[in-house]
Amino acid sequence: MGYIRVPAYLSIPLWLFSHADAQARYDLLLQGGHVIDPRNGISAVRDIAVRGGKIAAVAPHLAASDAIKTVSAAGLYVTPGLVDMHEHVYAGTGERDSYAGDNSVYPDEFSFRSGITTVADAGCSGWRNFEDFKQRIIDRAKTRVFAFLNIVGNGMRGPKFENDLTDMQAAPAADMAKRYKGLIVGIKLAHYAGPGWTAVERAVEAGAMAGIPVMVDYGPARPERPLYDLLTKKLRPGDVYTHSYSGVRHELTDDGKVNPGMIEGRHRGIIFDVGHGGGSFAWRVAVPAVRQGFFPDSISTDLHVGSMNTGMKDMLNVMSKFLALGLSLDDVILRSTWNPAKQIHHEELGNLSVGSPADVAVLRLETGRFGFTDMYGARLDGSRKLICEMTVHDGRVVYDLNGISRPEWTTLPPNYTEIGDPAWDALNPAPPRLRMAGHK
Ligand SMILES: [Zn+2]
Repeated sequence: MGYIRVPAYLSIPLWLFSHADAQARYDLLLQGGHVIDPRNGISAVRDIAVRGGKIAAVAPHLAASDAIKTVSAAGLYVTPGLVDMHEHVYAGTGERDSYAGDNSVYPDEFSFRSGITTVADAGCSGWRNFEDFKQRIIDRAKTRVFAFLNIVGNGMRGPKFENDLTDMQAAPAADMAKRYKGLIVGIKLAHYAGPGWTAVERAVEAGAMAGIPVMVDYGPARPERPLYDLLTKKLRPGDVYTHSYSGVRHELTDDGKVNPGMIEGRHRGIIFDVGHGGGSFAWRVAVPAVRQGFFPDSISTDLHVGSMNTGMKDMLNVMSKFLALGLSLDDVILRSTWNPAKQIHHEELGNLSVGSPADVAVLRLETGRFGFTDMYGARLDGSRKLICEMTVHDGRVVYDLNGISRPEWTTLPPNYTEIGDPAWDALNPAPPRLRMAGHK
């Protein structure tokens, strides 16, 4: 048939393009943004260049002529791709009332649009169903997905499973974690409602056997296992206490002070994570705790169907809450990038070092009148809110809210088709034969 997709005036010899690309030093250049890279102590206007999916250069000025594609980030903040180490993304099994099912969301639904490039699932699966989770979600997501493995073999399938001490076995959990080293980044204990220390001890035993941290959602408060003992005796340095500002486990004492166990635990090296969720973040806890200097080590969402439309909403909303609490933007970015990357032992992530995977968030800091609600529906007003303009994952644009990486349509030829380039574009990556001259 005589159908030709490429207009005649674009039939420029292919060697012209391939020649030009072969000479390009960079695939993508983000120019003039305020770079916040806490790992490298950078908070200043910088250009960032990407090549082959990796950060290739960070400097006060890099030439646009060296790049296949240049995007102006002037007036915006350029940070490492956000790392949300507490989400629930084991969706799609069809199981009702289960985090290994209907309570979870698909990772790509909430990640790139919020500047997130890496998530850790917080214990939806255990050793019995991790491989199903992996083939169903991890292997198919565009988002980088890691997992905390539940100490319960059946994972987070509801109280019947989560209170079953007989299904909390350290050896098979540790074996599974070792089989998928790097992918399984920790052991999770969640929602255990019983008394005694057995559940915690099994989780720590598995973590020790596999050489990975334990994250604890401490369930309902029980006088037989006080928070103080958990944080000062039972958990190891590097283990993670999530839901730090819930208040439902005496995170604040009756006279409004941060629980001495949290302060002692922090000195011992226990990590304190936000894990906002649907029922784990109250202003009446967070405001006094932050005023007393108790900042979180990591900011995370605890994303699931019960938090996505309530006070939590998304990662940037939770980060904006900490701006409203008085943390600086640099403080907030540290706790959303480099800190969580370190905590899950993936130090190649959460930074913009040359050679690191090119995961980048381009954020706008809006100023105005904003309201932020907590787990009880109480509001705190704020004047700053983070918006995701663009996200780059493994060197390619995966989200672009306002089309800042795209040409205005009237500048294109009348019969334009996809004008991206697979070197930098994962949204509309035209094959090389369709690239248009002058529209990189
Ligand atoms: Zn959770």
